Amino acid sequence: MKRPFVTLDKIREIIKEHPTPFHIYDEAGIRKNARALLDAFSWNKGFREYFAVKATPTPGILKILQEEGCGVDCSSYTELMLAEACGFSGSDIMFSSNVTPPEEYQYADRLGAIINLDDFTHIDFLEKVTGHIPETICLRYNPGGDFVVTNEIMDTPAQAKYGMTYNQLEEGILKLSAMGAKNFGLHAFLASNTLSNDYYPTLARLMFETAVSLHEKTGQNITFINLSGGIGIPYRPDQKPNDIYAIGEGVRKAFEEIMVPAGLGNAAIFTELGRYMLAPFGCLVSTVIHKKHIYKEYVGLDACAVNLLRPAMYGAYHHITVLGKEEEPCDHMYDVTGSLCENNDKFAIDRMLPKIDIGDIVVIHDTGAHGFSMGYNYNGKLRSAEILLREDGSWELIRRAETPKDYFACLDVTGLFNFE
Ligand SMILES: *Cc1c(COP(=O)(O)O)cnc(C)c1O
Repeated sequence: MKRPFVTLDKIREIIKEHPTPFHIYDEAGIRKNARALLDAFSWNKGFREYFAVKATPTPGILKILQEEGCGVDCSSYTELMLAEACGFSGSDIMFSSNVTPPEEYQYADRLGAIINLDDFTHIDFLEKVTGHIPETICLRYNPGGDFVVTNEIMDTPAQAKYGMTYNQLEEGILKLSAMGAKNFGLHAFLASNTLSNDYYPTLARLMFETAVSLHEKTGQNITFINLSGGIGIPYRPDQKPNDIYAIGEGVRKAFEEIMVPAGLGNAAIFTELGRYMLAPFGCLVSTVIHKKHIYKEYVGLDACAVNLLRPAMYGAYHHITVLGKEEEPCDHMYDVTGSLCENNDKFAIDRMLPKIDIGDIVVIHDTGAHGFSMGYNYNGKLRSAEILLREDGSWELIRRAETPKDYFACLDVTGLFNFE
């Protein structure tokens, strides 16, 4: 049974000042979850989580993770700006980008971020655009083939645009060390939204074996392994959540077996989790504004796919709760839709829900990561507000909703509209 972290009374209180739709985040949940992750990896001295900023690029959220000891993983110019504005600097920032424009490497370099190179050709490119090679540098690995975890193909790295081959890693480390690099990290992101306690341990084993081999072949020190993102969350009520302690323990075992005997026992483990850190701790709150009966039963919300793209883009499941009707039987079948002139603008298709009335408030679960941040402005729709539910039950606006003035900000509309 999925329950919202916020009550109908609290939502009614917020709606008086901020109409729906909006995303709301659960500070207590975010902190508790972050602490459990750090605890599960506390066996590793240098462990650090670099929160993937793209998942939830909002200072009110990044600050909480910063207080819990996390760094940030950025992959664009504005994400770096956000990191800098929030007070992250130097090794607090991983810069894991691909197809990187020169000004982004220059900015990452000015901030002293740890740069993760996506390709062998980026070695010369980085030196050309920044004038040097930093002492600490990371290389992204793509092992090719299929990535198999306990007999299941999780993804197909051979079809992915990211990372370098093993031979390129080896040549890359030799080249970089000749250019002045001293500390090397390895990075790989091989599957997304995994619900298996074996994903990280399997990836870690592969990365540790690769690190040992590279260490032996090049004589260079591998000082960190970045397991990147990919730990998933149970979007569906019948799915089992990951056990972060089992995951931490699985990685520890692989570390003891492979890294320690090879003399790499001082290496740090880094993660760049996005979804796992935030998805369950945010939800989209929306009001039912229309009902429609044709060949099917439709419920129309004041939110649409611009507020949450995942269902339209991937057919992703997001659980829906009708606030105040949690105990009622789910004996009505609805398509729950937004207002875009796109027939894929549906938050749910053939979903069994309690009988819905106009004015009902619905919570769309698990939107805390890759939710607001994937928003856009199609059909002239505006981005919603974001609200933080504090640990003490109070709440705070951490991003105001867009207005038409924001929408027209890139046009010269002087004299056309009066926004006052
Ligand atoms: C998207 C991304 C992440 C985070 O992925 P999640 O699935 O949200 O954990 C981490 N690292 C990189 C390089 C990414 O592109």
